[in-house]
Amino acid sequence: MMSETWTPSSWRDKPIAQGVNYPDEDHLQRVLSQVAKLPPLVSPGEIERLRFQLAAVQRNEAFLLHAGDCAESFDACTHENISAKLGLILTFSLILIWGARVPVVRIGRIAGQYAKPRSSGTEIIDEKEVLSFRGDNVNSLDPDARIPDPERLLSAYFHSTATLNCVRSLLTSGFASLQRHHPRDWSLAHVRSPTLRKEFERITEGLADALDFSNTIGVTSGREALGFEQGGGRGVLGEVDFYTSHEGLMLGYEEALTRALPVPSSLRSSVKGTTIKSNSSDGVPHAYYNTSAHFVWIGDRTRQLDGAHVEYFRGIRNPIGIKVGPSMRGEELVRLLDIVNPEKECGRVTLITRYGASKVSVHLAGHIAAVQESGHPVAWVCDAMHGNTHVSSTGLKTRHFGAIVDELTACLRIHAECGSALNGVSLEFTGEFNEAGYSVTECLGGSMELSEEELELRYQSFCDPRLNFEQSLDLAFIITNHFKK
Ligand code: PEP
Ligand code: MN
Repeated sequence: MMSETWTPSSWRDKPIAQGVNYPDEDHLQRVLSQVAKLPPLVSPGEIERLRFQLAAVQRNEAFLLHAGDCAESFDACTHENISAKLGLILTFSLILIWGARVPVVRIGRIAGQYAKPRSSGTEIIDEKEVLSFRGDNVNSLDPDARIPDPERLLSAYFHSTATLNCVRSLLTSGFASLQRHHPRDWSLAHVRSPTLRKEFERITEGLADALDFSNTIGVTSGREALGFEQGGGRGVLGEVDFYTSHEGLMLGYEEALTRALPVPSSLRSSVKGTTIKSNSSDGVPHAYYNTSAHFVWIGDRTRQLDGAHVEYFRGIRNPIGIKVGPSMRGEELVRLLDIVNPEKECGRVTLITRYGASKVSVHLAGHIAAVQESGHPVAWVCDAMHGNTHVSSTGLKTRHFGAIVDELTACLRIHAECGSALNGVSLEFTGEFNEAGYSVTECLGGSMELSEEELELRYQSFCDPRLNFEQSLDLAFIITNHFKK
């Protein structure tokens, strides 16, 4: 049975999946106490604004783009990499906004996406059994340095801070401004496929014309007309709304950044739920906010109903994601929703389905029916990546663009058949280029028809394979075309 009282540490009494064994527990506790004193990375106002926008996503009034790396690394925390990631997310969203005329809520897998769940605790490297790599915030990719080191959690905090600071400054200094960064000036040098290039030019031309027109008739920035402004006021993190997220795997770290903070005054009458406590000194309602990111999700390997992760997640006020894979049963999903969202609040839960192209039609309709029957409000998002991973004949972990499109297309169709709607996508992609201007080669196919032999040319991911710049745009156009119909 679920215990009645929730605290940021009540998860500690529950069995934990994917737990990390530190050789020195006292060292870990010292680091976590240090993290607990450091400032929050995000604020209650930003978190509440995302909840508000995700409620619109649930009502099918906006589309969610959740995207970024499978795992960030400390080494990749550079200005170039962060701007490439942010640039691709913004470009992808702009294609959807303009092409499909749908407002887009953007959440990056960024500024804290370090920890990885693993299917096995150990792996064989050069015929030697070593501990598995668990992400830069736990141990090193170097097979000789796999002992978990608590100092890495502190380093994760500071790398998240540096990343977020870079994102905030890019967004407030005109990086996303359609005025200063006019679509006609966008470089298309990286788009190799002639069809994709033409399609992209058509969209940027149209967008540029719309901006010129709105400026001529006196709309102040044109951003409002393009759905960049949602919920009023300036965007979170700058001129456009952009939010951060990661898998909430390392619960000690998440707990250290969970703070009881005043609920923004405009929401005080409407906010309910178990997390609210009254601050005795001033009577202002407080809620527990995970201040490490705006949005955190429960992975497919850590969603046990009586487990530590579900216990932790049920008490925080942030909007949360739940990965839903083929092993989830319909009634289990509803019990999970009852635990994490007992009041059936809008904007709170996003279900990220990841079955695989061959399994989506077996499972999705049943899950939709169970949730519809329960009356739980959710946003349905298709993660077309994690059920479609295989090893290439050359021994590299890869995904086929065709399988990704198949799962996505099946999701769109099944939702429509069930009287539901697909509310967003969750993708692993990267806008990074090497010095010669070439994008990564980790997934097969797409308009560039990447072949197995080409995979090793620029395979850079140390975790799951990501769509590259061109393949991501291919997907943006496919989604846009679907909504245009
Ligand atoms: C991920 O999103 O990188 C991941 C590990 O997903 P899942 O929990 O769905 O396997
Ligand atoms: Mn992944």
